[in-house]
Amino acid sequence: MPARYVMGIDVGGTKIYAGIVDAETGKVLATARKRTHPERGVDFFSQRLLVVAQEALAAAKLPDSESLLAIGIGIAGQVDRAKGVLLSSPNLAQGLRNLALADLLQKAFNVPVVVGNDVEVATYGEQQFGAGRGYDDFVCVFVGTGVGSAIMQGGQIRRGFTGTAGEIGHTIVQYGGRICGCGGRGHLEAYASRSAVTRVLLAELARGRSSKLRELLKEGDSAIRSKMIARCIDDGDELVIETVTEAADYLGAGLGSLATFYNPQCIVVGGGLIEAAPLVLERASLRAHEAALPAATRSLTIVKCGLGDDSGVIGAAWLAARQARD
Ligand SMILES: [Zn+2]
Repeated sequence: MPARYVMGIDVGGTKIYAGIVDAETGKVLATARKRTHPERGVDFFSQRLLVVAQEALAAAKLPDSESLLAIGIGIAGQVDRAKGVLLSSPNLAQGLRNLALADLLQKAFNVPVVVGNDVEVATYGEQQFGAGRGYDDFVCVFVGTGVGSAIMQGGQIRRGFTGTAGEIGHTIVQYGGRICGCGGRGHLEAYASRSAVTRVLLAELARGRSSKLRELLKEGDSAIRSKMIARCIDDGDELVIETVTEAADYLGAGLGSLATFYNPQCIVVGGGLIEAAPLVLERASLRAHEAALPAATRSLTIVKCGLGDDSGVIGAAWLAARQARD
């Protein structure tokens, strides 16, 4: 029987997350994760990536008769798929440019390695084993450090003329509005990402607004995690509810425009904030239906990711298995 176990690795601004996946069923056997710390530079990053991968493989305790078929990695940034190189990654760190990821992993594990963009591989995961199953035309939107999305059309990811199709995070929801990480103004990402929510919350705390967040944040800590936000919402915290509701309204505007423009069967929405706070997707979905042309949303489904945190790991593994068997 051919090898069926594949490693999937999902690299984002917050964490490096690896899993050993059964390529037939999409089931995750074992995982390992560590904080990315992109600010510590490229050597630290490369080392850490290998450690997380080795830990995941060790945790899976594959029987001696089984070996790893391939490794797939999805990373937040622009990639050269043919060469397996990370070209640049604004959301990770400026230092991580032209990094030969496929070479690095191939040398360490001696199996074929496939490199993709994080949103793209997570969308494959949802298509194969998650909420996108059964749909020919759907769009995945991930709300995290940024807002990323990918368009699945007839079973293939639509990349556009120069490969930038699906950049919903950089479409305008407020003309002349807040400055986005890309330098533009009024982009969805500057309103609906977790980073945008964090910026607003920290500014309001600095202004002296009261909030349960003060207790949850450690002295000098500026990292507001999705779980903290969820706790505050459950507690009825006025500041957090107000901020998250505003972000959800903008997200809804973005999803509504997407529905009108692209008319997909389904929009699958994921990311830490979406998982932690159901309020966000409920509200955004309502707004999307209000904002879009009725004909575009009459039979549109807007659903949460089916694989949660694992869509990237599972999608990267699936992609690597497909390529290895071709
Ligand atoms: Zn932007």
